[in-house]
Amino acid sequence: MSCARKLWALVQQRCPRCRTGPLYERCLTMHEHCPRCGLRYEREPGYFMGSLYLSYGIAVSVMVALFFALQAVLADWDSGTVALLAVALFAPLTPWVSRYARTLWMYFDHWAWPEEAM
Ligand SMILES: [Zn+2]
Repeated sequence: MSCARKLWALVQQRCPRCRTGPLYERCLTMHEHCPRCGLRYEREPGYFMGSLYLSYGIAVSVMVALFFALQAVLADWDSGTVALLAVALFAPLTPWVSRYARTLWMYFDHWAWPEEAM
C-alpha cells in the first residue's frame, strides 16, 4: 500500500490494519472492533493513555500558533487577553484533537509493534 493511501486512511480515521473500517461510530465514541476486519482497537487496558501525550503536543502547538497569529493581528491587546482568546478559540477543537491523537497513536502503535510481532 502506498504511503499516500496510508496517510489518506489516517486522515479519514480508518482502521490501521485494513484501512477501510471507520474508527469512530459517533463524535467521540469508537467502535470496539473494526467493522470490516475485526481488529480490536483497544489492544489492552489503558491503551489510549499514549494518545494523551500526542493530544497535549497537538493542543499546545495549535494554541501557541494561534497565540502568535492573534498577537500579530491584535498588537495593541494585552498578552494575557490574547492568550485567553487563543484558548477560547481552541476549545471547540478539542474533540477533533482527541480523535486525531487516538488515530495517530493507533497508527504509530501498529507501525512500531505490528500484530505479527506480538
Ligand atoms: Zn480493519
